[in-house]
Amino acid sequence: MKKIKIKKQGKNWKKFWKLGVSDFNTQYFDITKNGELVVQEGNYVYNLNEIVKKYGSPTEIVFPFILEERLEDLHDYFNAYMKIQGYKGKFFYHYPLKVNQNKEFVMPLISEGAHMEVGSVNELWIVKKLWEEEKFHSKLRVLCNGPKTDAYLDLVDELRNKGLSILPIIEDEHERLKLLKYKGEVGIRVNLDTKADTHWDKKIDRFGFTAKEIMDLPKMKNLKLLHYHIGSQINSAASVIKPIEEAMDLYIKMVKIHTNLDTLDIGGGFGVPYEKKPFYNAKEISEKIIKLLKKISDNAGIKHPNLVVEWGRYIVAPAQVTIYNVIAEKPIPKANAKSWYVIDGSFMNDLLDTWAIHQKWHIVPVNNANTNALKSVWFAGSSCDSDDKYTAGGNYILMPKLKEGEEQYFAVFDSGAYQDALASHHCLLSSPAKLIAQDGTIKIARKRESAESIGKLFGWNGDHK
Ligand SMILES: *Cc1c(COP(=O)(O)O)cnc(C)c1O
Repeated sequence: MKKIKIKKQGKNWKKFWKLGVSDFNTQYFDITKNGELVVQEGNYVYNLNEIVKKYGSPTEIVFPFILEERLEDLHDYFNAYMKIQGYKGKFFYHYPLKVNQNKEFVMPLISEGAHMEVGSVNELWIVKKLWEEEKFHSKLRVLCNGPKTDAYLDLVDELRNKGLSILPIIEDEHERLKLLKYKGEVGIRVNLDTKADTHWDKKIDRFGFTAKEIMDLPKMKNLKLLHYHIGSQINSAASVIKPIEEAMDLYIKMVKIHTNLDTLDIGGGFGVPYEKKPFYNAKEISEKIIKLLKKISDNAGIKHPNLVVEWGRYIVAPAQVTIYNVIAEKPIPKANAKSWYVIDGSFMNDLLDTWAIHQKWHIVPVNNANTNALKSVWFAGSSCDSDDKYTAGGNYILMPKLKEGEEQYFAVFDSGAYQDALASHHCLLSSPAKLIAQDGTIKIARKRESAESIGKLFGWNGDHK
């Protein structure tokens, strides 16, 4: 067991907990003199310790301003590099709804100019609802991925007839035949040979046509867009760039046949530095992408394609933290950590990727963050499942030693992507409350679930006859 030496770090707790670093998306976070974790939105300060004391735990806190700033920056990078390099195509950001469908995430992104990408009929229903409530104008564009059931295609048709700019993306021969008579514009998805450095680097991908299959298709007058999606949480810059070269190879051949093709959609996959180690960033990558697209299309003598990106995790993960309280401590004999800290919620239920893909998280104490008395711990969730734990991959997490009669809260950073829709109810534990921190005030978006509200999900409606 390594001895934990923190004296050398001096008293710079912000640095010790890796806060205030824009490359890690922690530039909004700081530690007060009293050792409390705070978030700064302009000149507003949210004290997370005070918030969790008032509203209880477990709690998720969403920061819409972080979403807005991230998307604004992304638009700025791409538009600036297009201008600097004399690129003639346009840039479109499409928000992949599956990454987080909560209204509190979707609305700020739309207000910041996001278009949408949906993957199912039920996600498209959300678009329909917003459209009917006149929550966005007709310039907003919607891309439809995912397997196209009849209900899904019917809704696409319905919304197109109502005047929405909607474009289904054909993923296989079955869908192509179903959409043969479709009057609007369509896209097509290619399954590239290039493999990306990600957890989801599947040897065999079930989505999309091969390049050869696409080249064998008859001319399609309504084909507007070529799409690929290579995986999520791509771990290297090269793996973001490489697939673009392969896709452009195909694109150049395709525009000669499908003369209305004018857009390359490079899908999602841009990663987040969960582990707060050096990582590639959107500024450098956006410059590289535009340079590359310009060079390839100029060499081939074709128009610069419009560019669509669907980076979901990148935009939303840093906009939410999940806060738990430590309810008990148990010693662990012979392990990399000295103690279990048992928490008042569940990694397995609320942060399901901990269990599903051994996701690593950046974890920071919400109070006592300025103490020298630290301990190496593993976290145990309060479900009765031995898989409900977080060990930082068998390593350890540093936490303040517990003090008699005092709560010890901690925050899991970057919990904004994917965890909500995957969340579950193992042991019928309650999902955390969801709070929104915006313009200096805290609003409750969703209360912590009660036994009754969870019971109802399983048919316990009160009349047990
Ligand atoms: C899941 C998905 C995305 C978003 O992926 P991220 O890794 O979150 O960026 C984008 N496009 C498609 C087609 C997807 O399936």
